[in-house]
Amino acid sequence: MAGEAQADCVFCRIVAGEIPATVVRKSERTLAFRDISPQAPTHLLVIPRVHYPNAAELAAAEPAVAAELLVEAGEAARAEGLAAYRLIFNTGAEAGQTVFHAHVHVLGGEPFTEGLV
Ligand code: AMP
Ligand code: ZN
Repeated sequence: MAGEAQADCVFCRIVAGEIPATVVRKSERTLAFRDISPQAPTHLLVIPRVHYPNAAELAAAEPAVAAELLVEAGEAARAEGLAAYRLIFNTGAEAGQTVFHAHVHVLGGEPFTEGLV
């Protein structure tokens, strides 16, 4: 069923406490933790506790959870002391998505000298 935990999903396993993660923030429906391979001085991932393959599918199925994901991303960035940050949703393998459980990257802590878009 849509949203159900997947046994072979690394982020579902983090939600279940089966794989350790450095959790920095929890809400009823989301979890924020440090990326295991940081690409910036601060690199967090914010995920919904429910499983959807990407952020757009999460938003279509459970818009309130998608909104909470963004609120929590902002709160996590603030708690890290980030005055500015970048949110990234990789969607599809060709765009660099490697974990097919919706997540947003929160990147900050260094000046962004160029925009991607
Ligand atoms: P993406 O490439 O957008 O799918 O992002 C997946 C991210 O998850 C990558 O930046 C990985 O470094 C990160 N990642 C994978 N496994 C773990 C883990 N066990 N704990 C924390 N971050 C992870
Ligand atoms: Zn999952």
